Amino acid sequence: MEYADSSQAQRVAERAHALMEEVVLPIERERAGGMALSSGTIAELREAAREYDVYAPQIPEEYGGMGVGFRDSLPAFEEAGRSLLGQVAMRVDAPDEGNMHLLELAGDELQKETYLEPLVAGDIRSGFSMTEPMQGAGSDPKMIRTTAEKDGDEWVIDGHKWWTTQGVEADVLIVLARTDEDAHPYQGCSLFLVPADADGVEVVRDIPHMGGGSLGVSHAEIRYDGVRVPEEHLLGERNQGFVHAQERLGPARLTHCMRYSGMAQRSLEIAKAYLSERQGFDSTLSEKQSLRHRIADAETRLHVARTAIRDAADRIAAGKEARVPVSMCKVFTANVTQEAIDLAVQCCGANGIGKDLPLSDFYESVRQFRIVDGADEVHRRVIARAAFEDVNEEELEPLTRFGDPNRRTE
Ligand SMILES: Cc1cc2nc3c(=O)[nH]c(=O)nc-3n(C[C@H](O)[C@H](O)[C@H](O)COP(=O)(O)OP(=O)(O)OC[C@H]3O[C@@H](n4cnc5c(N)ncnc54)[C@H](O)[C@@H]3O)c2cc1C
Repeated sequence: MEYADSSQAQRVAERAHALMEEVVLPIERERAGGMALSSGTIAELREAAREYDVYAPQIPEEYGGMGVGFRDSLPAFEEAGRSLLGQVAMRVDAPDEGNMHLLELAGDELQKETYLEPLVAGDIRSGFSMTEPMQGAGSDPKMIRTTAEKDGDEWVIDGHKWWTTQGVEADVLIVLARTDEDAHPYQGCSLFLVPADADGVEVVRDIPHMGGGSLGVSHAEIRYDGVRVPEEHLLGERNQGFVHAQERLGPARLTHCMRYSGMAQRSLEIAKAYLSERQGFDSTLSEKQSLRHRIADAETRLHVARTAIRDAADRIAAGKEARVPVSMCKVFTANVTQEAIDLAVQCCGANGIGKDLPLSDFYESVRQFRIVDGADEVHRRVIARAAFEDVNEEELEPLTRFGDPNRRTE
């Protein structure tokens, strides 16, 4: 399917496709079975991405990326999503990708030098610590309970977070904390850069979870107990933490959509290959109309998702408001991808469950997408709020109300 991507975007995507076909997928197939990725394999993948000139396309050149920009990186992100290893190779992997974007937007020059550049280079890793155990921040982020108080020229952070992706491996944690108790949380929270080895940072555990798969990324519970950071570790403006978090989460939700739509596409590619070869009931399975129709529906829904993602990305790139379109993309793509992977598992029979193919890793990976960065219901809430903004009461003008004496008398 062809899309209205710029020629630069297409060129980068072609190189990304070559990387995926010639390097990433062969390594993925060799490693079938889903063992955790070794640092040696990560280095090999990243070296290859540099050779193919597709390493960190979204990051400006001055910080070590390619300077392609957010919108023109979109098709390359889709390519990367075709394997769990693709995003690692091209350094478009969550959560570092979103954190790098946040540092680029909100960081000062020293913060960029200290954290952004090593992150882009892949020398360090990061976590984003916002969600808290009950009754702290979750779907409703204004329930945040972690605090940061100013003491001289330091901030003192106290709190309890969990589900911090990569929190065990991270060298730096970006922590959202309440800095003004009297203000509404949306105006009274700030972000802090907290070195993972600072006194008082206790990584309690990697929460056992579905979908570790071959990436083996942790989701950590972390206590922040009187953690002191210098005032220069405030990221962005004081009390503007939610604004900055949204600056991170908006594009990050969309880059999730890009990667996951690549995963949906690959799942359908695998399903079609299997159905085309496998014989049963006097023909190949690809000739069974019930399966053909389900593949057709999945292709259609994926095309709609990819088109909507481009529309939302165009809006963000043009500096326009994109909250509702992003929420629409997030809910729709998460469900479309989950359905496509489930269909592919079904089409491949036992091999859908087996680990020779990547489908079962995809299946485990995709489930989180309907929860992370805002559950389906939370995004539907955003969409519904906008949908009910302009209710046209005139539409019901012809209806008679109970006891109304003036209507329908003729
Ligand atoms: C794999 C994974 C990685 C994550 N990584 C990070 C990370 O790096 N950093 C971070 O800070 N957080 C992270 N999270 C946390 C994630 O952002 C939260 O799980 C999410 O925002 C939901 O919050 P909660 O788990 O507290 O669910 P709750 O707030 O307890 O909600 C439970 C469920 O209730 C439903 N629900 C909630 N609100 C409504 C409503 N208004 N109407 C109807 N139904 C509703 C939804 O179905 C929701 O799933 C991660 C989560 C997962 C699963």
